[in-house]
Amino acid sequence: MNDLIIIGAGPGGYEMALEASKKGLSVTLIESKDLGGTCLNVGCIPTKTYYKNAKMIRDIKKAHLFGVNINEFQFDFAKAKLRKDEVVKTLQAGILYLLKKANVNLVYGHASFVDENTVLVNNEQYQAKNIIIATGSKPIRLLGFDDAITSDDILSIEEVPQTLSIIGGGVIGIEMATIFHSFGSNVKIFEMADRLLPQADIEISKRIAAYLKQEGIEIYLNTKALNYQNKVLTVKIKDEEKQFDSDQVLIAIGRKANISELHLDKVNVAYDNRGILVNEHFQTNISNIYAIGDVCGKVMLAHYATYCGKHALKHILGEESKINFYLVPSVVFTFPEISWIGLSEEDCKNLGVQYQVYKSQFRANGKALADNEVEGFVKIIVVDDYIKGVHIIGEDASTLIHEMVVLMNANINTSSFLDIIHAHPTLNEIFHSALIM
Ligand code: FAD
Repeated sequence: MNDLIIIGAGPGGYEMALEASKKGLSVTLIESKDLGGTCLNVGCIPTKTYYKNAKMIRDIKKAHLFGVNINEFQFDFAKAKLRKDEVVKTLQAGILYLLKKANVNLVYGHASFVDENTVLVNNEQYQAKNIIIATGSKPIRLLGFDDAITSDDILSIEEVPQTLSIIGGGVIGIEMATIFHSFGSNVKIFEMADRLLPQADIEISKRIAAYLKQEGIEIYLNTKALNYQNKVLTVKIKDEEKQFDSDQVLIAIGRKANISELHLDKVNVAYDNRGILVNEHFQTNISNIYAIGDVCGKVMLAHYATYCGKHALKHILGEESKINFYLVPSVVFTFPEISWIGLSEEDCKNLGVQYQVYKSQFRANGKALADNEVEGFVKIIVVDDYIKGVHIIGEDASTLIHEMVVLMNANINTSSFLDIIHAHPTLNEIFHSALIM
C-alpha cells in the first residue's frame, strides 16, 4: 500500500507529489491527460506566452513614441503558436524529470474510487493510506452555444478570428480579449453583470473597462447571451435583442469542479454544486481523503492549488502549517496589468471595519514616466496602521504586488514600511508615495 495516491497532475497534484516524495512518502500520481494540468496546458502558461506576443506587438506599435520608427511589421500567428507549444512541452519535460528524480510512481489513466483506500485506473487497483483529489476544473458550457469555443479550444486555434465575441468579462474573458485584440481580432465582450471583473476593486473594474475601450474593444454590460448559430450571436441588452456577426464566440463564464467521473458516491465524499467540501486542512468528510485546488470550487488559481497541497501534506505528516489562506494574491494580465491582495473597500464596509485609503498614480512615478507606462494607480487599504489590502492597476502589477504580499504576511505596519529604503527610480516607490499622501 502507498502512503499517498494523488489524482490529477496539475499544480496542486504534481507539486504535492514532489514534496511528499521528498519527505519520504511513497507516492502514486495519476493523470488522465497531460502533466501540468489546466495551468500548464490550457491555462496560465499558454495564455501568458501569448500575452508576451501581445505585449511585443503593442510595444512595436508604440515604438515611434521613443523615436524608433518601425514602418512595417508582420505577425506570424503560426510561429507564436509554435512558441507557445514549445514552452508548454519544455515545462512538461521539466515536471517529468522532477517526478522521476523524486521516485514518484506516475500512472497515466483515469482514476475512480473503489473504496476509501482504493482507486481504479486502467482496470488496475491502487491502494494508499491517504488519497488526494486534485482533479481541477473544466470550462462551463452554455446551452444554445454548440458552435462556440471554450478557453481550452481557443488556445489551439490555427488562425486569428477576424471577429471574436467573448461571453464573460471575468479574468479569463478579459485576458483573452487583450491577447486576441492585439493579434488583430475585432473583439467584443458581453457581460451579464454591471461591471467587468466583478471580483476586483470597483475602481479597477471601471478603469480597466475604460482602457479596453480606449484600445478598441467593445464592451456590453448588463447583457445576456442567448445563442450562437450560423456565425450570428444573439444577446439581450436590457430588454432588447440584438444580433452580431461573429467568426468565433468564446464562452468564458466560469469553470466547474471535475468530479463527475470520480465515483465519489462509492466513498460518500461530500460535495455541493461548487465542488468538494473540505475543512481547514483540505480534508473531506472522509478523514483519509483530501481535496485540493480547483476541485474545491472556491479559489481557482494555480498557486492556491499548490499551497493547498503543501498545507494538506503538513496535516498528513502532523506538522504545523503557517500558510495564510487569507492572503492569496490575484493577477490579471491585461494592458496594464492588474493585481490585488487582501481586503477591498467593499469588504471593509461589509465587515464594518474602519479603514483609510491611500492612493498614488503611476503618472507621478519617475520610472513609469521613463517607461511611458503611466496608466493606472495603486490603492492601499490601511486598518489601524496595518496594510490590509492592496489593489494595483498599472505597469508590472504582477511583480509589484509581491512586495505587499511579503509585507502583509510579515505583518509589518506602515510606519515601519516607510523606514525601509527603496531604490530610485523604481516602480516600487509608488507604495511609498501612496502611504505618505
Ligand atoms: P488542474 O490544473 O485542472 O489539474 C487537474 C488535473 O487532473 C488535470 O491534468 C486533469 O487531466 C486531471 N484529472 C481530472 N480528473 C482525473 C481523473 N479522474 N483521473 C486522473 N486525472 C484526472 N491561475 C493562475 O494562478 N494564474 C493564471 O495566470 C491563470 N491563468 C489561467 C488561464 C486560463 C485560460 C485558465 C482556464 C485558467 C487559468 N488559471 C490561472 C487557473 C489555473 O489554471 C487553475 O487554478 C489550476 O490549474 C488549478 O490547479 P489544480 O491542480 O487544482 O487542477
